[in-house]
Amino acid sequence: MLDLTSPVSDIKGIGPKKQKILKKLEVFTVEDLLYYFPRNYEDRRNKVSISELIEGQPSVITGEVISKESPKGYMRGKSPFKLYVKDETGVLEIVFFKSVYMDNIFKIGKTFIFYGSPTRSMNKLQLIHPDFRPESEGTGPEILPVYPLTEGLGQREIRKWEESLIPLAASMAEYLPESTLKRNNLCGISYALSNIHFPEDKKKYLEARYRLVFEELLELHLGLTLLKNNSTSDDKGIAFSVDADPTEFVNSLEFQLTDAQDRVIKEIIRDMEESSPMNRLVQGDVGSGKTVIAASAMYKAVESGYQAVMMAPTEILASQHFGEIKRLFAGFDINIGFLSGSVKKNERNETLKNLADGNIDIMIGTHALIQEDVKYKNLGLAVTDEQHRFGVRQRIALSEKGKNPDVLVMTATPIPRTLAFILYGDLDISVIDEMPPGRQKIITKYVGGRERSAAYDFVMKEVEKGRQAYVVAPLIEDSEVLEQLKSTETLYKDLQKKFKGYSLALLHGAMKQAEKDQIMESFYKGEIQVLVSTVVIEVGINVKNSTVMVIENAERFGLAQLHQLRGRVGRGEHQSYCVLISDSKTDEARERLDLMTKTDDGFEISERDLEMRGPGDLFGSRQHGLPRLRLSDLIKHVNILEVIKQESKALLEADPDLSDHLNKPLKNKIEKMFFDLNKIGL
Ligand code: ADP
Ligand code: MG
Repeated sequence: MLDLTSPVSDIKGIGPKKQKILKKLEVFTVEDLLYYFPRNYEDRRNKVSISELIEGQPSVITGEVISKESPKGYMRGKSPFKLYVKDETGVLEIVFFKSVYMDNIFKIGKTFIFYGSPTRSMNKLQLIHPDFRPESEGTGPEILPVYPLTEGLGQREIRKWEESLIPLAASMAEYLPESTLKRNNLCGISYALSNIHFPEDKKKYLEARYRLVFEELLELHLGLTLLKNNSTSDDKGIAFSVDADPTEFVNSLEFQLTDAQDRVIKEIIRDMEESSPMNRLVQGDVGSGKTVIAASAMYKAVESGYQAVMMAPTEILASQHFGEIKRLFAGFDINIGFLSGSVKKNERNETLKNLADGNIDIMIGTHALIQEDVKYKNLGLAVTDEQHRFGVRQRIALSEKGKNPDVLVMTATPIPRTLAFILYGDLDISVIDEMPPGRQKIITKYVGGRERSAAYDFVMKEVEKGRQAYVVAPLIEDSEVLEQLKSTETLYKDLQKKFKGYSLALLHGAMKQAEKDQIMESFYKGEIQVLVSTVVIEVGINVKNSTVMVIENAERFGLAQLHQLRGRVGRGEHQSYCVLISDSKTDEARERLDLMTKTDDGFEISERDLEMRGPGDLFGSRQHGLPRLRLSDLIKHVNILEVIKQESKALLEADPDLSDHLNKPLKNKIEKMFFDLNKIGL
């Protein structure tokens, strides 16, 4: 018997091959498949007769097979299979390019229902590869789901699987408490699942969707709140000294703060001086100057007699911060320590001792900072940089190193406020909405593969001028690691030929840390002119002399990621360029890449990305460390957030850890959602 927890391979038609493809989509169980939602729908209510067909207009016709041209012998499977069907108004030609099996299906005299968009060939209309079903099976659902697909997965088959699960969905147990449904006017889960896949009409679809968006956001919000409540036992935090004023530090900088930086620092200082713990998110586009903001806050903590820590998501970024923070505090009596996975044991022990004794004032490092044996004397401030790269648990783990320390998280990935609310719950948000003066606009060009050679000629010109360049190839997907690596390596070899006499290097995720660091170091020093890389260089890297960013297969990246990558150039005085290379012909790809050439406003880019692709993909694959939101369209559902907050509060007030049996099913669901977080390495 099929139930929600059955593996998808128990579904008729899903063998090991399809199971593997579904696994890539993170669909493992029947329940996962039921929660794999359509991205769109096809309205098949437009039934017409053959004579009424209009070129380019998707329609449904019913026709009887009158003749066919079926390639025989060795032509089978090579030349198209043609079918002629008639109704009372005329005859229509239908073409299938894959002819295998078709002869058996389309028997003369049988009637089929076809759905497709007519195209014109030699002055007559035809249907190419229409969807079809025998009339004897009935019309079937008239509003059909269109699922997001991936290589090796067809629309017809996934529809069939989903359709076969609807009876199961119809008998599914509800897991939202009755009171929640009532209070918020939500439909039941069976109704919702049936109608999200095969809606009978628009109204039912909207009801279904609302319910599913609601439940997704509610679970997320409840889960985050539970996590947080678990970790903060009492609310008393540190009130940092009013006398510890970062002005002296700010005055030592070689530049003037922007108004936005000044405002954000003031917001942070106000929080720090209060006795309740600070929980603040600083959002600022790439290059807006977040480092000095973090430094100012750390300065205040240290001057008040506490320790501070700043955690970054990659070794490269952490060591860059270490260098920068050391430089910024060179004129002050502040000791700075560094910790990462590659720090040698002896050195690590020494650092840990100094940290525990309070000899180190500021710690900089990677995830290594949240290891069990890292102990502070009195940690007062925990800063996380590039927050979207960490999970909630890591953020919490870092702050648990102190006794209710103040928490500052920084992100360069501009997140629309609505999404930020869900991701970061009740964090306060500061926005740096202004760039330091004199920043130039990066000129962005979007070109097809045919112009690749010209693009690299251009890179060559910059390199000849003494500048440096990045070439980025797409992210390596698990199953494709080898293949991708090969393609990056091929690219690298080609470029080595082209850039003969110059210094090139290849950097990719599978390399040893030490090797990566060495390459980055050489790039910083200008010893490497062209850095060919997978996306490991994405965050925070700051090399002022680099002026060109070339992105291969640019359509493979999320907009927010492209924006981050582009932000690696234009950091110095020289005019900088970003070249997006893509051969993709899809409208979506074109629209997205076009947008990149038109705007450099990170917020606009991320909002558009959210509109076009949904929040799940906003940061590439789940980089925000939260469950993929399958449905919740936070742009359109701004209003729902307030309702979610209230419902979440009502539930937790009545039952703080959701242990009541009425809340049990919901709790299980939340645990499952957050259990998935463990799978992705939190
Ligand atoms: P991000 O917000 O991306 O972390 P950084 O803190 O790395 O940005 O700052 C980017 C660059 O801008 C650094 O070289 C930094 O020294 C410089 N910078 C920061 N604030 C200002 C300012 N107010 N005026 C001029 N340059 C600034
Ligand atoms: Mg930064």
